[in-house]
Amino acid sequence: MTTPILTQRRRLTALRAAALFDGTSGALIRDPLILIDGDTIVAVGSGVPAPDHADVIELGGATLLPGLVDSHIHLAFDASPDPVGSLGGRSDDEVIDAMAQAARTALRGGVTTVRDLGDRGYLSLGLRGTPGLPAIAAAGPPITTPGGHCHYLGGVTEPTVDAARAAVREHAERGVDVIKIMASGGTLTPGTYQHLCQFTPELLRAAVDEAHRHGLQVTAHAHAVAAIADAVAAGADGLEHVSFWTEDSVASPADLIQLIADRQTIVGLTVGMVPIPGLEPPPVVRARLPLIVANMRRFYEAGALMVAGSDAGIAPIKPHDVVRHAPDQLREIGVGQAEALRMITSVAAEVIGLGHRKGRIAPGFDADILAVDGDPIANPAALHRIQAVYARGAAVPEVSTARPTS
Ligand SMILES: [Zn+2]
Repeated sequence: MTTPILTQRRRLTALRAAALFDGTSGALIRDPLILIDGDTIVAVGSGVPAPDHADVIELGGATLLPGLVDSHIHLAFDASPDPVGSLGGRSDDEVIDAMAQAARTALRGGVTTVRDLGDRGYLSLGLRGTPGLPAIAAAGPPITTPGGHCHYLGGVTEPTVDAARAAVREHAERGVDVIKIMASGGTLTPGTYQHLCQFTPELLRAAVDEAHRHGLQVTAHAHAVAAIADAVAAGADGLEHVSFWTEDSVASPADLIQLIADRQTIVGLTVGMVPIPGLEPPPVVRARLPLIVANMRRFYEAGALMVAGSDAGIAPIKPHDVVRHAPDQLREIGVGQAEALRMITSVAAEVIGLGHRKGRIAPGFDADILAVDGDPIANPAALHRIQAVYARGAAVPEVSTARPTS
């Protein structure tokens, strides 16, 4: 008896548009065709016909980009005026619902991959791999000190080497993708201070060493100059904010900036905000912003490895799809538009350890694609005119419509 052999070919999907930014090059490719098989890109061409066994989707004058990658967000914070208070008033089930809603907001705004750098009680881990949400990498609750920055998220450790190592081990056992440690205080936590360290150099070294033993990268929330210096000395893979915050201003330590650039420690700039009339960063941030921007420029000129990482969720000016506003701030420090787009696609994907699947439009990569109306290199506002979003080959319903840029 012979078994019939199924010979019918799988149908592919072909996306056709006016132009393509592939995530790595400096210029657009004209008349592109992307071939998708299920959730994966299988071919990318220019000026070529679609094969017979493909369903063609015509996107007219659109430019196709890789889905955006935000290396620093908080799904548990709801981008309200009091995200910490809102979170505190919610049960875990309610938090999970709000986090899924936040993740959908990101996806509708073209953000197909996020790294959550601080949830409550490891809740983001359970959302990983959920259909209809972006790809999620997660840190779980940030490791902090008793009463320290974001202590209410549950990642408090006693200030001993053994406890710091045990906290990292617990995170590794729970299956986090990265370790986030609060090296200094932060704006969201009254009673903590941005200009002060939370951990001794010895404790930071122990945490980083333990993380690396488990194959995990560490990124340190670090505002204070000493916290930044200690985190770099401890071998942290990344730094968030990196503001060089002092009690009454902002410092600019040239040697430390150069050291961070030379070591290629990842600098998470936490830029990107929606211009909402009447809403601005808190006064302590606003007063320092020009100096922080000047330091960002120094990092850029020193050749530092920088990503945008928006800190989405912490305020109304930072909704969960805010990262497409990052290029506007990156321009202020001299970053060109194509490079800014790389920083929120391929570079961000690389930094969070997903550079082999995310952040590029190329064969073998996940079919995460953003289609916008117009040329987002010549006209940055085009990035906000979203026409379609595909996440692992699936069209995202109800994509965001245009949002003002100034
Ligand atoms: Zn954050």
